[in-house]
Amino acid sequence: MKIDFAKLQHQYQLYKGDIDRSIQSVLNKSNYIMGEEVYQLEEELQCFTQAKYVITCSSGTDALLLAMMAMDIQPEDEIITTPFTFIATAETITLMKAKPVFVDIEETTFNLDANKIEAAITEKTKAIIPVGLYGQPADLDEINKIAKKYNLKVIVDGAQSFGASYKGQAEAHHCEIYTTSFFPAKPLGCYGDGGAVFTNNDGYAEKIKMMRVHGQSKRYHHKLIGMGGRLDTIQAAVLLAKLPHYKEEIKGRENVAEQYSQKLQGHFITPVVKVDRTSVWAQYTLRISNRDYIQEKLKKIGVPTAVHYPIPLHLQECFQFLGYKQGDFPVAEKLVNEVVSLPMNPFVTDGEISFVTSAILDSINNV
Ligand SMILES: *Cc1c(COP(=O)(O)O)cnc(C)c1O
Repeated sequence: MKIDFAKLQHQYQLYKGDIDRSIQSVLNKSNYIMGEEVYQLEEELQCFTQAKYVITCSSGTDALLLAMMAMDIQPEDEIITTPFTFIATAETITLMKAKPVFVDIEETTFNLDANKIEAAITEKTKAIIPVGLYGQPADLDEINKIAKKYNLKVIVDGAQSFGASYKGQAEAHHCEIYTTSFFPAKPLGCYGDGGAVFTNNDGYAEKIKMMRVHGQSKRYHHKLIGMGGRLDTIQAAVLLAKLPHYKEEIKGRENVAEQYSQKLQGHFITPVVKVDRTSVWAQYTLRISNRDYIQEKLKKIGVPTAVHYPIPLHLQECFQFLGYKQGDFPVAEKLVNEVVSLPMNPFVTDGEISFVTSAILDSINNV
């Protein structure tokens, strides 16, 4: 059996009629930059999240930059975030010339440990950036409460968790600014790069709308320093065709995750979702002590797996200048050696689930 990790081709074939028509309509109009599909998508995303403003943009990375620019993050500002995430979360902080300050994660959810945040706050701290890792929102109430107490801003990096709910409402609803990514492998992906910023704040929305088109208030009148940060109309067209299926796809992902857990519970540490929130299962990630051995075994029989992420950010070469060392964040450092993500998409079949889980169980028995 040869298993496909994300089944993007399968997904395209399923929605091909709608996607082709949607892209063709952009080609027929040649409205490649800021065409009507971009605004239509923003309306649809607004309905989906109930956020007051949705501003689409060029990527999840640029969404983070736009959010920090709107919040007026300054050089030397300290921003608290997790060392257990994709590089973009902390890379963008450094691009703003601000300083990422890492705080260790919770062992059960892989997300920022809200109990450890206060100890990292200094008078230079300006913001906290939690991430909804693997699709599960972080402890937003606790984090927002700390932010309020110390007058800090919060940007939630929802690149992996778009569509998840927290206390019965869309995750974005609980955030001052929420960003996401439509990179093809994210739960809601387009066919290239794309992202969005969500906010209820009038001032931030106005700035971000200008900043994604070089800070212009009207054509060639540049009020702010911005960037070329627009979402392509063709990518908006792809998302318009895919969004109507997204709720159903999330259910599909939940079902796959549930079946994996049923078969693997008791043998491995399976992922835990807290009772007051849902996950969109960007990844289904197990903890296995002899991970590398098992990954190799699975590869040989056609089961692709992935490690998100093999090196915690504080130990990445590009962040050596921050002065962190091995031992600073023991939970993140332990988990990078144990985590392994299994094939995850809404279309994993029962047969594939049985094949993958039996293969994993066999390989531990044959160590
Ligand atoms: C993917 C990802 C990003 C960046 O998104 P891009 O669209 O690839 O720029 C940022 N943060 C996290 C947590 C991600 O997983």
